[in-house]
Amino acid sequence: MSDIPITEKLLLNAGGWQAMKPARELLKAGRVSEAKYEPPLLSGYVREGMKNYRSGLRIKSAIDIENLCSCWESRSAGKICSHSVAVGLGYLKPPAAVVAAPNEPTIPEAPAGPRFVAADSADAALTTLHVILPPNFAGAWQKGQIMIVVEAEVSRNRTLVSALPKKNTFAVDGADLVLIEGVRAVPAIFESGMAILSRDAFLRLLTALQNHPRVTFGKATRATISSAALRPELLVESRGEGSIAVKCNFPPNALLLWNATEAWLLQNNEFVRCGEALPAGSTHLIERPLLLDGDRALHFLAFDLPRLHDAFNVRAGEGVRLPEIATAQPAFELRLAGTLSSVTGELMCSYGDRASIKALAKAQDQFVFRDPQNSDRVLMRNLDAENAAIARVEQIGFARTDAGGFVLHGQPNVVRFFATDYQRLQRDWKITLTAQVEKWTGEIERVTPKLEIVGSGQDWFEVRYSLTTPGGEVFSNADIQRLLRSGQSQTRLKNGHLGVIDTAGLEDFEQVIRDCDPAQTQPGLYRINRAHAGYVEQTARELGSAVADRREALKKFITGRDASPDAKTKLGPLAERLREYQLVGWEWLTRLAANNLGGILARGRDGSW
Ligand SMILES: [Zn+2]
Repeated sequence: MSDIPITEKLLLNAGGWQAMKPARELLKAGRVSEAKYEPPLLSGYVREGMKNYRSGLRIKSAIDIENLCSCWESRSAGKICSHSVAVGLGYLKPPAAVVAAPNEPTIPEAPAGPRFVAADSADAALTTLHVILPPNFAGAWQKGQIMIVVEAEVSRNRTLVSALPKKNTFAVDGADLVLIEGVRAVPAIFESGMAILSRDAFLRLLTALQNHPRVTFGKATRATISSAALRPELLVESRGEGSIAVKCNFPPNALLLWNATEAWLLQNNEFVRCGEALPAGSTHLIERPLLLDGDRALHFLAFDLPRLHDAFNVRAGEGVRLPEIATAQPAFELRLAGTLSSVTGELMCSYGDRASIKALAKAQDQFVFRDPQNSDRVLMRNLDAENAAIARVEQIGFARTDAGGFVLHGQPNVVRFFATDYQRLQRDWKITLTAQVEKWTGEIERVTPKLEIVGSGQDWFEVRYSLTTPGGEVFSNADIQRLLRSGQSQTRLKNGHLGVIDTAGLEDFEQVIRDCDPAQTQPGLYRINRAHAGYVEQTARELGSAVADRREALKKFITGRDASPDAKTKLGPLAERLREYQLVGWEWLTRLAANNLGGILARGRDGSW
């Protein structure tokens, strides 16, 4: 791809006059910064009110140009916005070299006309200035030709300001000082006492007229230029079928004066500015209602409406309930493929009824959708949750691939994953295996603790503790310890399968056994206080094993589970700080209490509980 040079013509073709004109205003107002072009990317910042938009264009060819602005005009209307064009202009004319467009008045280096100083600061002739606007202001605005006359009053004589001797110094009040600053941009006023202003030039001058006490329409009708800001009403109406109309409600007798950067209302001879600044693109709302449906309507409600609240008084029309905006909780699916020596993964997430996507795919696409469970709620894509899910996969040991997937290398890692983390992931996510993976994971067997109750007395029961696989192979505790000491957590089973020991899980379980302070009557056989039964059984169950029991009464106690309180919800933040077996212990105590039984959770000799 060859680099396309940026020219005004290119920008004009891309954005049209609709974007070019306000873009020039933005540039002239000094709103563009850091404009740079690294083909094919043009980028920069455009400030509008409190917002600083990152804007620009991707220029693939003279006719294939993509808008990259974060404003809602570009997103809602899908066209090239004034911000991006302004960045282009800013790149062509860096701020230091900005020259005003030829059809606009230029700001001269030296002030034309007489010198004006503050009334109390000099021994100069006092004068007051009067500003005269067209008597038929609406007609002048319509034509885009607003004649403004400035008169100076000295010793009760009013003349055009141009008649003041150019070399003299005059003392004026504060309002006039501000006015003169504004009028400097229109040298014609000092030359002939009057000027015909474009709409843009008039609105610029209007700011300098705020609170000026001597502005009139014609000679007699007082005009007020308020320094207050008004928030026009923005009405969101339903058009049925998820379609909405957004329109600006102005008072019926008001005249709206606006350009790319500001909007004013003229009502009862008073000019009032709308908001601090209307957000980019919202100006076209003033001309005509914005009609949106489907995703664009939801997007508007979720992202744009909150921003418009600053400048508008947002109101829902009849039959419209502005939706609650919430963050969605995506459902995750991990798709696994590959071999025992290398597994690849793809993490998918799905939102509502939308087609599922790869986690973090097109992260800039901050889509929204209506909550399938609650039509008054709009849900936003949850990039944080997607990030966390990816972090979880990485924490397990998977590496990210360039293609946005994951890979886990090495048989020991793969086997360990399927024996341990895989089980935990399954509780939270859907995990899909290819037929091939299904086959070889079927040959991985977890070695889990097995407890057999072989005897019991008044207040004790005796368990045989061994480790078994689903295939029925039994290991003694000594076998396991020997394996672990030699650094192995995997072993070939007699049936040819791979046996995997969940070492972390086993350590927890053994801790529990130690907590019960059992008497070891012979290797692998423990006599445990009956009060600990629930504790032991629950821990074993959590590790994926069960307690086998031939004694009915004891079994009834162990398995007659009343709703066991969930430690993690009852203990709140404390639960985060407890180790797993401590939680189990807590649950055991509450269960005992619920059964009107006493129990002591004793601190073991090794310092554990
Ligand atoms: Zn924009």
